[in-house]
Amino acid sequence: MGFFNLDSWLAQSPSSPPSTEAERTDEIRHREAMICTRDHGVDNELSELLAERGYECSSHRNPRAVRFAANRTPPDLVVIDWRVGEPNAVKLASTLNSNPDSHVTSILALVPSEESDALGKILELGFNDFVMLPLDRAVLAARLGMIESRMRELDQMQALQKDIGQEYQRFLIASGGIGDGIWDLDLATETVHLSDRWKEMLGYQKDEIEDVLEGWLSRVHPEDLTRLRAIIDASIAGEVSVIEQRYRMQMQNGDYRWMLTRAEVVKNEDGKAIRIVGRQTDVDEEDESREAVRTSGLQDSLTRLPNRTVLMDRMHHAFARAQRDSEQSFAVLFFDLDRFKNVNDSLGHITGDKLLRAIAKRVEKACRPGDTVARFGGDEFVILVEDIKDIRAATVAAERIQEEFRVPFDLDGIEVFTTISIGIALWNSNYKRPEDLLRDSDTAMYRAKAMGRNSFAVFDDDMHSHVVAILHLENDLRRALAREEFRVFYQPILSVASGRIAGFEALVRWQHPERGLLLPGEFIMVAEEMGAIIQLDRWVADQACKQLRIWHQKFRAHSKATMSVNLSTTQLMRPDVVAGIDLILRNSGLYGQSLKLEVTESVLMENAQYASAVLEQLRSLNIAISIDDFGTGYSSLAYLRRFEIDTLKIDYSFISRMLEDEDSFEIVKTIIIMAKNLGKDTVAEGVETRSQLDALIDLDIDMIQGFFVAPALPAEVAESVLERTADSPNHLEKILSDRMDGTASFPATNS
Ligand code: C2E
Ligand code: MG
Ligand code: MG
Repeated sequence: MGFFNLDSWLAQSPSSPPSTEAERTDEIRHREAMICTRDHGVDNELSELLAERGYECSSHRNPRAVRFAANRTPPDLVVIDWRVGEPNAVKLASTLNSNPDSHVTSILALVPSEESDALGKILELGFNDFVMLPLDRAVLAARLGMIESRMRELDQMQALQKDIGQEYQRFLIASGGIGDGIWDLDLATETVHLSDRWKEMLGYQKDEIEDVLEGWLSRVHPEDLTRLRAIIDASIAGEVSVIEQRYRMQMQNGDYRWMLTRAEVVKNEDGKAIRIVGRQTDVDEEDESREAVRTSGLQDSLTRLPNRTVLMDRMHHAFARAQRDSEQSFAVLFFDLDRFKNVNDSLGHITGDKLLRAIAKRVEKACRPGDTVARFGGDEFVILVEDIKDIRAATVAAERIQEEFRVPFDLDGIEVFTTISIGIALWNSNYKRPEDLLRDSDTAMYRAKAMGRNSFAVFDDDMHSHVVAILHLENDLRRALAREEFRVFYQPILSVASGRIAGFEALVRWQHPERGLLLPGEFIMVAEEMGAIIQLDRWVADQACKQLRIWHQKFRAHSKATMSVNLSTTQLMRPDVVAGIDLILRNSGLYGQSLKLEVTESVLMENAQYASAVLEQLRSLNIAISIDDFGTGYSSLAYLRRFEIDTLKIDYSFISRMLEDEDSFEIVKTIIIMAKNLGKDTVAEGVETRSQLDALIDLDIDMIQGFFVAPALPAEVAESVLERTADSPNHLEKILSDRMDGTASFPATNS
């Protein structure tokens, strides 16, 4: 809930700038906006425009981060780039729409023009409006104008309704639907307000029906009257909190028409029902869609499970009970399908829908009769398990549900295996709102997925700290980029044949103001997820190229040394990657042949065609390509023939085990032999001991990199190594003799 009808407000709200005094002062009030896009250009332009309009903006790359942050403090506006991925955008919109407070968040979608087919769907999904990409500032400003005038209306409405329950405001907001009549029953005075539209639906003028309950009930078909009265009485007594009822109403001309009423009971702070607010829809014309209308209120139309409204109602109920009597605890199980997108993509949406229906049936069967199984949206389901003593009951339920997924689903002859990951949150007295259990079970679900799919996880405080830590990390990273807190360290790579320094690998470090020097393992993944990796990788490449150029000029003996730079998958897939690298080379004055880019094999295998085109272009700049961590992915060596690759870097895991584990040894051996056949160089990563080195030399390895030679070194230390080896370039020999007499070749400076 919490959504107003786009058409109606498009029709009524002027897009012209605010003019009255009230509106202008309102402009000063700070609104908060969150932007979720991975496109720097779009982000910058939007942030600027929104800042001009007085928004306090935060930018996010990761929809989950927005989702999490918005769950805590809902912003006034969220702008989501549709390119963050449909499932991400949908989940984000549904979270924002289910915000439990009266606060309404407007959601604007940025849609690339080639995806304009999705527009209808986007609006159905609860986005308020869209703007096409590439951005047109004038259009954007006009759309924001409309959204803001709606915000102002809401503000005014909220000010007026301050003393009434929050649900009421939400309801009014939600019921901005055109065509529906609104009624509002005040339980203290027993007067009912019937909107003009309500009367008009029956063919009456404004003042032709009096605002009393009788004015309504006297026109209900006698056969339907008892039912309607009963439900109204039950809600007055506080026994139900949502109403959905169909009945016939007599029109002014005497005919009867079918109406559908949907209403909510508004309670005051003490939980006492104070009014009932509802909307009446004429369903007579909609013979065919009547079923859909009937079920849309409280049932999910696809699975027939209770929908989110019912779920929330029951959760509130369970929450209140548990607060009264802690023996009556409850748990929330949140799950979605592992890789549902694959099912949809490969078998089509119709089959996907069938699967969701079949799952709904199985899960219901696996639950106890008192539990509520609800569809939360998309492939997300929530189970409310009530009357439990401890977490055992919830984990048993989770196991039972997962058990149901062992057998494949038969979807008209197609057998589909699927698994689910479940997150569990158990009530405790620290919870302030039922919605918080939803949030926590959602977080736990992500943990379950991370543990390997097809499992469940129970929410705990550590998880909370983890999510918060990631959010902090994202913020820190963004700041660190601006403040240049990153450093590049250089790890030497030695040629075995000549013993010379063949080059360096540039490895990033983060000089964190509080946490000290951080290794990439602590931040690269997050940087990758939030998109900051693009900027970071370019910065590293730029620094490393400039550095090598300086060394080339200083040490003629090392003029052949190369620089290896890691390139993230995101970077490689960017259309401007080649131009970006070219620019970096030109800025530094370094020749292409001095640069090696390290990419992982998975990116080549998953995007073979595209990647091979990019590599070809890079090769035309004379840049060499290495495959990093080779052997850990799925690629076959023969397949690699397709790519323009110069070097294979054999992964550390094989090198470290090669002397103890025969399989690892065989893998290393095979890679070297086949690489030679294909005319590619080999580098052994992570060489730590003399015996590993000897074994690798026996296998005819070309180059080595690892702590045995040196860890990654700060630029000054790396430079001193170059200086020392300028005259006697066989560095390997030097290391071996130093090791014999116990002197260290390098200060230990990795980390
Ligand atoms: P990588 O590219 O495979 O880099 C080699 C890693 O192995 C480095 O870890 C290095 O310090 C470590 N290492 C080197 N010799 C030894 C050894 O003898 N024993 C052991 N145990 N480890 C050794 P580091 O610096 O922590 O980097 C980890 C990964 O982070 C890198 O793996 C690379 O994938 C990524 N990374 C580092 N810098 C960047 C960067 O600028 N951009 C991107 N996209 N990724 C980077
Ligand atoms: Mg590397
Ligand atoms: Mg590696």
